[in-house]
Amino acid sequence: MFHPWITYRARRGRKRWGLLLALVVAFAAPGREQSYVVKPKDTLSGVAQRNGLTVSQLANRNAISSTTKLYVGQRLLIPGTSASDSRSVPSRLEPALAKAINDAPVKGGRWQAIVVHHAAVEEGSVKSIDRYHREQRHMENGLAYHFLIGNGQGMGDGEIAVGNRWKKQLDGGHLHSEAQNQIALGICLIGDFNKHPPTARQMRSLEDLVRALMRRCQLDAGAVKTHQQINVVHTQCPGSQFPTRAFLARLKSPAG
Ligand SMILES: [Zn+2]
Repeated sequence: MFHPWITYRARRGRKRWGLLLALVVAFAAPGREQSYVVKPKDTLSGVAQRNGLTVSQLANRNAISSTTKLYVGQRLLIPGTSASDSRSVPSRLEPALAKAINDAPVKGGRWQAIVVHHAAVEEGSVKSIDRYHREQRHMENGLAYHFLIGNGQGMGDGEIAVGNRWKKQLDGGHLHSEAQNQIALGICLIGDFNKHPPTARQMRSLEDLVRALMRRCQLDAGAVKTHQQINVVHTQCPGSQFPTRAFLARLKSPAG
């Protein structure tokens, strides 16, 4: 049976990352990170070379693949050169997930918002929600969200699944307004957060995923909204116990 979904589990190596982060702090502190706006004829290797970086250092910092074609106006983060070795800040996403994010043919300006939802049910998977959206909601593209984050029931706790709508860069189906669906990425966390908060692993995965999408789509933290914040019709989604303020505040400070 054709199964269009690939799931990945966000990497969870607390000790290892703790050590890496300590190294990053120790070595990166003196380096000034700068950003650079891509000009016509720029290449990743050219920008890397001018800044004393390897292509993979620059690609990793921006969560793009080293073969990505740049586009004019794209903003690249240039890590400080004093940290210019393999200790540059690692992505916390599994390589396969980072690849799925990078490989999608994102057009400049395609996405202007990243919207967080809850499923309002305690169990779910790409398969079950895809089927529900196709059969009950009559959505020909199935799963209305671009990404799902599991809670241990139907998917792993903190597991991130990449939907076809991301891979094919299709409009979302997660908001009432079609105009908003055309510009808003949708992430859904499994669980009913009117009854309890998300799991710690879900929140960790959400933050890692959102940060990667912000880099990939050239968005800042102001583009990240809950469904309730963006919706034209009142909704409680993602639930009264979703930590909206704390989450949005975290995104405005550096990853850590
Ligand atoms: Zn919602």
